Amino acid sequence: MTATATTASAFSHMLQPLDLGFTQLKNRIVMGSMHTGLEDRFYNYGKLAAYFAERARGGTGLLITGGISPNRQGWLLPFGGTMNSHVDVLNHRRVTYAVHREGGKILMQILHAGRYGYHPFVVSASSWKSPISMFKPRAMRESEILSTIKDYGRCAKLSKLAGYDGVEIMGSEGYLLNQFICNRTNHRKDQWGGSLENRMRLPLEIVKRVRQEVGPNFIIAYRLSLIDLVEGGNTWDEIVKIAKALETAGITLLNTGIGWHEARVPTIVTSVPRAAFREITRRMKKELTIPVMASNRINTPEDCESIIASGDADLISMARPLLADAYFVNKTAAGKPEEINTCIACNQGCLDQTFSYKRATCLVNPQAGFETELVYVKTARPKKIAVVGAGMAGLSCATVAAERGHHVTLFEAADDIGGQFTMAMNVPGKEEFRETVRYFRNHVKKTGVSLKLNHAVKAAELKAAGFDEIVIATGVQPRTPGIPGIDHPKVLSYPDVLRHGKKVGHKVAVIGAGGIGIDVSEFLLAEHSPQPLQEWLEEWGVDFNVAEPGGLRTPKREQPLREVWLLQRKAGKKMGQGPGKTTGWVHRLALQHHQVKMLGGVEYVKIDDLGLHIRVGGEEQILDVDNVILCAGQESVRELLPVDADGKVSDPHFHVIGGAKLAGELDAKRAIYEGAELASRL
Ligand code: FAD
Ligand code: NAP
Ligand code: SF4
Repeated sequence: MTATATTASAFSHMLQPLDLGFTQLKNRIVMGSMHTGLEDRFYNYGKLAAYFAERARGGTGLLITGGISPNRQGWLLPFGGTMNSHVDVLNHRRVTYAVHREGGKILMQILHAGRYGYHPFVVSASSWKSPISMFKPRAMRESEILSTIKDYGRCAKLSKLAGYDGVEIMGSEGYLLNQFICNRTNHRKDQWGGSLENRMRLPLEIVKRVRQEVGPNFIIAYRLSLIDLVEGGNTWDEIVKIAKALETAGITLLNTGIGWHEARVPTIVTSVPRAAFREITRRMKKELTIPVMASNRINTPEDCESIIASGDADLISMARPLLADAYFVNKTAAGKPEEINTCIACNQGCLDQTFSYKRATCLVNPQAGFETELVYVKTARPKKIAVVGAGMAGLSCATVAAERGHHVTLFEAADDIGGQFTMAMNVPGKEEFRETVRYFRNHVKKTGVSLKLNHAVKAAELKAAGFDEIVIATGVQPRTPGIPGIDHPKVLSYPDVLRHGKKVGHKVAVIGAGGIGIDVSEFLLAEHSPQPLQEWLEEWGVDFNVAEPGGLRTPKREQPLREVWLLQRKAGKKMGQGPGKTTGWVHRLALQHHQVKMLGGVEYVKIDDLGLHIRVGGEEQILDVDNVILCAGQESVRELLPVDADGKVSDPHFHVIGGAKLAGELDAKRAIYEGAELASRL
């Protein structure tokens, strides 16, 4: 047996087909629903078709579209994707045709946003505003409930006409059906509220109506919240009763959801332990006879295989990992899982974009969602290209250029690739960043890039070698602020701490509360990296027995390892605004759990043996700290770039990307995108 065959057989359970009686799925991997923003405008359906076709070509067994509303009241945002007319059918046919041509299968998700809709006409079970929404919903009249059931039926029937293999009814994450099911949001006194039987009436009536409209040979998946993670959610007994009733009502598959969007417990960010929720899925699977899908924070073929092989679930739903790498399944089947571009659960390219009403893409894969726009065409005229710096920008540029057929030399001053990312991956909760470095390590070899490590290239060398194009990706270096006493032995830079492992005392002041200041604080306070599941459950107060409604319990938190002050000069601004929209709150809460003292409006006076002298609101105080750690931003490294008097690049063969181009607002998403985009047109 060859090594490849051995590796592929190590994934035999996740790769085996699933027979649903009237149809068969070719493997156990499902691309879970994820809103890309392309669903909302008819003129983007060509792009949406290309996006799904790519994932079908990559081997995914079943795809599920982003949420499509059954009527206008259910819109996620004004004029959001809707399926309620034959015109919609024509748009969607482009998607189903493209997927079927690649041998894939696809479900359309029917999602009524309820009180999560971003428009003034939102409705819900009761008139109770969500803490994460600006619109107060109107309680639905009974006649509206009845017409909504019909709308779901019509929507499903139209989706069948559009060529879909089935539908998924979205009943989790706090959307409308969840709002009816839970006491938290359902305060009705009629037959749609009160007892569990009444609260689950709407989803059951919808499933029955949909089944009636689509007939027996059409997949109906239902996504049910297994743990709501909000007060007033359901208990385990109630959730099991709902699941059994859905099974009886005629669903084909049960997909699982974890937590409402308004929950203050993270469920998918990097700091959530991998496959954290498999235990709760296992418990549900034991209760049902239909196939059950596991979801949330599963991002490797190893975890997929382990979950399927152990019988904890029949299918694995992943959305972001298939955004990051459309070929996840094919690479696994080919016995090359090490070539997978792993999702690092950062949310920066996908959910942060979606929640800002922008098109979703992926930090590690800028082609995601842009399949027809960012295209890597083989070059007819291979060039000799130098890329200086093997950080994220340089790696992205070098590998795309080489993939296109150019002869690329990548120079790196350090003894390894990765640049700043090699520090980020040492931060607790960012361990996944290691996977991106691993991916690029393999990809550099695969694409034939000539990598020169320990090679701080000089301008004369670049000139002498006669390169056709030179890409400066030399990144950034930490800024050293001009505070008196900055040379004091107490003062450390963030690379001293994160890269060089310098010893840090018990009491610490961190200067700068951007992304890196927060990361350094978390690094200083974490007991374990990665955090073990049990410790994580205790820190966030999660009870997998879901004994109390919502599955919340009193958190158990240890005394912090250190006393940390996190400081910034700006006043008024919420601390820790650096990280993204969907992750910032997790970092801020984690810092609160560790009793970090956050101070804004700080003036740095001096550093001496007594500690850090600061002035806040005109009053001077001394922070008696063992160390002061500088996280005061960064500056571009661009000595190799020929520039004219105005600072513009003076030689057309030179290009600059990533941190070297602009240090402010830099992140890896921008660095990787700029590298790929430049390489696509060199
Ligand atoms: P760099 O990573 O700085 O790489 C430049 C490379 O060029 C270096 O390896 C350097 O050695 C090399 N080089 C310089 N001069 C030469 C020369 N003359 N010859 C050869 N090689 C040279 N970003 C996010 O998006 N999300 C995050 O969560 C996140 N967290 C972070 C956490 C930490 C602790 C840190 C430090 C950064 C984090 N970042 C994060 C930022 C992100 O890592 C950077 O923005 C991004 O990697 C910058 O990439 P770059 O390629 O432009 O520069
Ligand atoms: P940053 O977010 O710009 O923060 C720099 C901090 O330093 C600010 O708090 C700033 O606040 C302070 N500062 C700036 N100049 C100073 C000076 N002269 N003296 C004292 N303080 C000064 O930059 P960063 O934290 O270095 O992060 C770099 C990039 O990496 C960021 O742009 C970010 O996108 C990325 N990153 C992202 C994440 C993430 O989770 N998404 C995590 C880490 C890093 P004041 O000026 O108010 O003092
Ligand atoms: Fe995963 Fe980040 Fe890409 Fe989203 S942007 S798919 S979280 S790697």
